[in-house]
Amino acid sequence: MSWFQPQHVEDPLDQMTVLVGRAIQLLRGESGVFVVSNEAFDPQSSAEYTLYHLNKAAVPFLLAYVQESMQPNTLHPLVVETIPPELARQLGLAEEVVEGQGVECGSLALYDEAGPLGTLYFLRLATLRSCFERYSNEDDAEQSALHLFATQLAGSLRFALRSQALVKEQGRLAAIFQYSTEGILTVDNALRIIDFNPAMERLTGWRENEVLGQFYIKVLRPKDRQGNDLGLQDSAVLQAFAGQEVVNREMFICARDGQRFAVAVTVSCVRSARGEPMNGILNVHDLTRELQQEEQRSTFISVISHELQTPIAIIKGYASTLARADARFDSKTIRSRLVAIEEEADRLNKLVGNLLYASRIQANGLQMDITTLDLENLIRSMARRLRAKHPEAQIELSIPPHLPAVMADRERIEEVLQNLLDNAVKYSPGKPEITVACYVTGEEVIVSIIDTGMGIALREQEQIFDRFHRIGEPLSQSTPGAGLGLYICKAIIEAHGGRIWVESTLRQGSTFSFSLPREEKAPLPMVVF
Ligand code: ADP
Repeated sequence: MSWFQPQHVEDPLDQMTVLVGRAIQLLRGESGVFVVSNEAFDPQSSAEYTLYHLNKAAVPFLLAYVQESMQPNTLHPLVVETIPPELARQLGLAEEVVEGQGVECGSLALYDEAGPLGTLYFLRLATLRSCFERYSNEDDAEQSALHLFATQLAGSLRFALRSQALVKEQGRLAAIFQYSTEGILTVDNALRIIDFNPAMERLTGWRENEVLGQFYIKVLRPKDRQGNDLGLQDSAVLQAFAGQEVVNREMFICARDGQRFAVAVTVSCVRSARGEPMNGILNVHDLTRELQQEEQRSTFISVISHELQTPIAIIKGYASTLARADARFDSKTIRSRLVAIEEEADRLNKLVGNLLYASRIQANGLQMDITTLDLENLIRSMARRLRAKHPEAQIELSIPPHLPAVMADRERIEEVLQNLLDNAVKYSPGKPEITVACYVTGEEVIVSIIDTGMGIALREQEQIFDRFHRIGEPLSQSTPGAGLGLYICKAIIEAHGGRIWVESTLRQGSTFSFSLPREEKAPLPMVVF
């Protein structure tokens, strides 16, 4: 007999499907569905329905019908009714079955000590009877066998649902462990490493397979601020095992290459049912970035207060000298003092402007007004201004003929050039020799400001573009500046889609270059085959 063609693909190894299928077969059914009760439904486990040889499309019809019918309960766990032929057709059953013996729908209430678990609905030929229904509804042996069957099936299904939930939970935890940006390390009760996540690998340079089974203190070599080893007696895991709270404990650990860095460690302890510690889970948070930011903040405060104090002291000094009632100054002296006051006020103004600029960049508020810009014209006028301001400086230009226009915000690029030219003068002791050179590629124009000044050590070259970063060299330290100029230049150039970089040799000079997109890209060379 062909009952129907299942479209729903069942997993033959799925524990739920196996249990539901066997139960339906025992009840002489051909197909059916197990529906978890509302109270027992656990969103962590699988679906609400477990189908056995039943089309998914048939489920709503079947459920709509059974909802209107008599419901089984703990007293009468099994209810069987003959279903109307039109419903049997809607359920996709073969015509000869519908026309022949007729079809019954059985509903079996499943419950155990924990309460109701759900209902098993099954379809079978109306002529068949299961081993629980051979004699009569009053047969005590049959009834108690049916109760026993319902409770055992409920227990097994509940167990299967729980293991499904556990498998999902395990998958979720594995994903957290795998993709967490925080280092996670698990140890057993003998402090040997049993898990080491990828973040921990990145942090320490050790591979998981190299450290599994190792004593965790030997791998991380934890130390306190003073560099003293934190041995077994100070082990954060042992303290957590002893019931102490270990939250964000700061310490230093060593990477594979011996490099030491600060981390905050939190330990949680997994205990057996008897309360004995079984595992320690260490959450290792890298503090390097925070410490750098902290350092940046204190550098910021000291640089800014120094940079503000110096011009204020000079202005105040000159102004109070000029204001003295008893003093007489010739006009030359008065003029030179006023020029100095003006210069210092300019310096203050620039500093405050740069600070505002930097905070705007941080808040992503850099507005650009990008139009076609004639770079040659801008560079020539800035060179003229620089020569007037620093007659001692030698300034050369090297600009190829017909320099293409770029797409840029004139005011901002002027600021970039101003900053780079000012730096070239500031950091060139004696007579500054500066060259501004332009190069053209197919896509961009590159501007280089070349000086023969103090130069920058290789290890500093990347950091000078960071906020408030100033080099520890005496000339740099004695030169006014807050370490904001290059940070601002970088933000401006990158907002134009360009790049900025430095090439430098200590005590020989530096070349700062930036690129800007050309207004019109060069036509591609024609290739003739
Ligand atoms: P500021 O000059 O205000 O300190 P910048 O951001 O412009 O800030 O520069 C950051 C640091 O980079 C400077 O303090 C200096 O140490 C170094 N620097 C910048 N330009 C040059 C240069 N042309 N030659 C040597 N060092 C430079």
